[in-house]
Amino acid sequence: MNKREFLKILGAGAVGLAANSLIFKSCFLIRKDGQEKHKNWAWITTDLKTPVDEWKRKFAGMHEAGIHAILPEIYGSRRAHYASKHLPVDENWLEMILPAAKAEGLEIHAWMWCMPCNIEDIQKKHPEWFSVNGKGESSLDKPAYVDYCKFLCPSRPEVHEFIQMTAAELAQYETLDGIHLDYIRYPDVILAEALQPKYGIVQDREYPEYDYCYCEVCRNKFKEKTGIDPLKLQEPSENKEWRQFRYDSITNIVNDKLIPIAHKYNKVISAAVFPNWEFVRQEWYRWNLDAVMPMLYHSFYNEDMEWIKKQTEKGVMSLPKNIPLYSGLYVPQLRPDELTEAVEASFDGGAKGIVLFSANAMTDAHWKYFSKAVKS
Ligand SMILES: [Zn+2]
Repeated sequence: MNKREFLKILGAGAVGLAANSLIFKSCFLIRKDGQEKHKNWAWITTDLKTPVDEWKRKFAGMHEAGIHAILPEIYGSRRAHYASKHLPVDENWLEMILPAAKAEGLEIHAWMWCMPCNIEDIQKKHPEWFSVNGKGESSLDKPAYVDYCKFLCPSRPEVHEFIQMTAAELAQYETLDGIHLDYIRYPDVILAEALQPKYGIVQDREYPEYDYCYCEVCRNKFKEKTGIDPLKLQEPSENKEWRQFRYDSITNIVNDKLIPIAHKYNKVISAAVFPNWEFVRQEWYRWNLDAVMPMLYHSFYNEDMEWIKKQTEKGVMSLPKNIPLYSGLYVPQLRPDELTEAVEASFDGGAKGIVLFSANAMTDAHWKYFSKAVKS
């Protein structure tokens, strides 16, 4: 997609708020007796090696086991796995699996990373697009935690346009059911408890090296609004307006920049979100999505099944009633019998279904237990 084509999509009046009933219908499954049925999903991490016949077999198995929709990782901040015109392309994986998934009765929603950008060409041409931490270091030169944490600044119109172009390209795949947003957030200012020792760090409060974004654009925007330069705050974490400013920067991208594009093409739009949303500045219960998928990865927080239930309940309560919540479960840390418990905890907490992370991690035994749990 070139700039002219993109601007045409965003042109005056072209982007309507077409959140019609079709979109909502596709998020809920209604049984013949009128009762609502759970809808189950599976994330699929990029896998370009498996041949199409094997995918067909896998998709048939997933459908049989109680999965209704798949979320393949089509763009993971480096290369696109579809015929993009604005991103570097690997293989046209989406084009290969799309008909195979549909033929097996599955919905398919393209999973795209949003804020991190690991494309060398963009890094060279637009270093100013990258987020800056409280010490004045760019995430491009000094990424937090791991090398790929090169997050873009959420306040810049050029960044919005870059992310919108990916969504716009995907939205135009006629048979695609939806777009799934991932990494639609800031870097973690505080990592989940169980992950901190992995990186050899203790985060007992918000430290400036993990706190974003203090770039000129963000600082000026906040200053215009409040008269305060956030860099001069003694304790930035205690300033409510500065917190809200950052929540709003992401909410604005979701609600005003991405949802209208998806809805214009009648696509469902969903997102993977954090249960501890404050630490990634992700106020997701204010997002007008068609589905929300909190990643209830209990082991990351040293928690158990009861926590999955409580987090599901908390999420359901915080969302408007018409937005379904699907509990994201972390398969590598669940034995097959534990997966049954996690599914039950999610349903008890009011989830409209399950999202598995990931289909790639499911063994035959996992599928057996999962199928039994979601069909009982
Ligand atoms: Zn910024």
